[in-house]
Amino acid sequence: GAAPRPEPKLNTSTGGIAHVIAVASGKGGVGKSTVTANLAVALRNMGFRVGILDADIYGPSQPKMFGVEGYMPEAVQEEGTDRILPAEAMDIRLMSIGFFIKPTDALLWRGAMAVSALKQMIHQTRWGTLDFLLADLPPGTGDVHLSIIGELKIDAAVIVSTPQQVAVADVARGVEMFRNENVRIPVAGIVENMAWFTPAELPENRYYLFGRGGAREYAERNGVDFLGEIPIVQSIMEGSDAGLPAAATHPLVEERYRDIARRIVE
Ligand code: ADP
Repeated sequence: GAAPRPEPKLNTSTGGIAHVIAVASGKGGVGKSTVTANLAVALRNMGFRVGILDADIYGPSQPKMFGVEGYMPEAVQEEGTDRILPAEAMDIRLMSIGFFIKPTDALLWRGAMAVSALKQMIHQTRWGTLDFLLADLPPGTGDVHLSIIGELKIDAAVIVSTPQQVAVADVARGVEMFRNENVRIPVAGIVENMAWFTPAELPENRYYLFGRGGAREYAERNGVDFLGEIPIVQSIMEGSDAGLPAAATHPLVEERYRDIARRIVE
């Protein structure tokens, strides 16, 4: 169904953002950025206007995943305000901390510097009118997260985990961060990424290398929705490397992300 349209969360010069969804993970490398990119494509295919805020200061990978590395955000003046123009790929507007820092510098960034850059990106980007802004958060929990949460009026958080990671305290800490009484952001649910391996494109043979059903059980135990599972698929990795998320080119992959997107939107 069509998403409800509450008051815009962020006023932008040319419109507003209806919903802000944060994508988080207990730790790095579980596929948080990949899930963000493919969810964005699925939502866009469903007819929504979508933007991505890549706030992963430790490894901003959205520019590469959408083939817009090297994009230099242009600054413009609009009604006396400084605005920066997002990159655009597949109708998806993208602003990334990666546009402002060299990858090799990322690790040297200290909290305060990152936070001030992120605030500027949040408030000055000319997002235009968006149905959904997906915020790719840094992995884990910490002060940078709390700052982002303070600036962005996040409607819901999606937690990405692999089967092994779900048992680890990091995931619980992520959920607790959003549920903290001073934060109170609804957790839309958990996505299990790398749930199983298939040698070819999503056929019948499933190899549950890291165990099975962990995320679903975790979700049930903790009162969190289980949003769906994504297998380890070569095209997903290749799509990320080639600058074209797999959901844009592989219908079976797209269907999985679309199911997850539908559960988030409803
Ligand atoms: P994170 O944002 O959590 O650090 P990434 O999204 O950068 O993780 O993913 C880490 C690596 O795993 C990337 O090389 C990505 O292409 C790959 N990857 C993520 N999800 C899948 C998947 N379902 N199938 C195959 N490769 C994946």
